[in-house]
Amino acid sequence: MKRVALLGATGSIGESSLDVLLRHPDRYQIFGVSGHQRLDRLFDICLATRPEIAVVPDAAALAFEQRLRHAGLTTQVLAGEAGLMTLAQQAQVDCVIAAIVGAAGLLPTLAAVEQGKQVLLANKEALVMSGALFMDRAGRSGAQLLPLDSEHNAIFQCLPTHWKQAPLAEQGITQLLLTASGGPFRGKSRAQLQSVTPEQAIAHPNWSMGQKISVDSATLMNKGLELIEACWLFDLPQEQIDVVVHPQSIIHSMVRYTDGSVLAQMGQPDMRTPIAHALAWPERIDSGVAALDFMQLSQLEFQAPDHQAFPCLNLARQAMSAGGTAPAILNAANEVAVEAFLARQIPFLAIAELVERTLAASSVQAANDLDFLLSEDRQARQRAQQLIPHLSTTL
Ligand code: NAD
Ligand code: MG
Repeated sequence: MKRVALLGATGSIGESSLDVLLRHPDRYQIFGVSGHQRLDRLFDICLATRPEIAVVPDAAALAFEQRLRHAGLTTQVLAGEAGLMTLAQQAQVDCVIAAIVGAAGLLPTLAAVEQGKQVLLANKEALVMSGALFMDRAGRSGAQLLPLDSEHNAIFQCLPTHWKQAPLAEQGITQLLLTASGGPFRGKSRAQLQSVTPEQAIAHPNWSMGQKISVDSATLMNKGLELIEACWLFDLPQEQIDVVVHPQSIIHSMVRYTDGSVLAQMGQPDMRTPIAHALAWPERIDSGVAALDFMQLSQLEFQAPDHQAFPCLNLARQAMSAGGTAPAILNAANEVAVEAFLARQIPFLAIAELVERTLAASSVQAANDLDFLLSEDRQARQRAQQLIPHLSTTL
């Protein structure tokens, strides 16, 4: 029985994880869950899974606990970031699913890593922010990182079984190819992107996801964050990672070998596949995802990304080249920009502009210390907020 802590249970990855976990009550016990919004849904999840621990925001803890008691549940209620960290580090927890969105997931995910847990990583922002520190802590504690992000999970599946034992180049691997759907605005020019709305941006053609990652997919910043994520997870320089637009989202990523082989992982665009893979690894379990029917697939297409219309991918490359605190600044500015776009304070094209200008206004420093990193993150957010009234792309 694997005891699982599901951080971000009420989100899109959280729900997909619950769906897989509840198909296998003989293998998994849901030890703890957390939610930040949609606490009614978290309550229902508690009723259904009877976890030992539930974590909610500070302000909601008392009422949530009373509600559980009235329903006859003994679930312990913990509050806020400290509560999330406590859950992630519980001795009884074998596996932590890191499915909180954005920088809010950093400390809880790092807590799990530090404790040497098996960590199923969806929260890419945590790794992007703290890359070197994150991987260093995982190396020291022996935490096992299994990627949930579909692209990284695909690459993991296409690598040799013992790929961690030697540099990838020594194993004949020359390149990783991240596939990108291109998002809802694929094929649009900059001029056409000028007036797109939040509703259009979050209507992803292939995947159903949380709002933040949906906007990131529309700007291609998601692929930029994933590029950085791949550099850290697979210990490769970004020059060896390329992005291929593949609108059907059937091939989830690929690994190129020196003998001319390219291995690809295919499947329906449904996060339950990578979740089931990581949960059961190295075994395989049913995920509830329908089998891929090749007779139904008309064609698989491949295109180069349009960097003119979608500059965020290259901004992420530049941040990764700059190193140090640059990816954390990129991430912080992007989080501020996406929030402002969703609140209709800035237009779509201003997201990239705000990230670029925040990076330009910041000095890049070494990022070996967590407290320093957190203060740089806060400063980058402030700087981004201050830049909003001065953007050239306005509503
Ligand atoms: P979501 O918005 O649907 O869910 C986010 C979860 O985090 C919710 O449970 C929410 O309550 C919680 N949360 C939000 N703010 C919080 C805070 N301040 N403190 C504590 N908890 C907080 O997001 P999602 O789409 O499930 O994405 C989660 C993560 O997984 C993101 O990092 C995203 O990039 C990554 N990811 C998502 C998908 C996908 O298909 N949805 C695919 C790959 C990677
Ligand atoms: Mg992805």
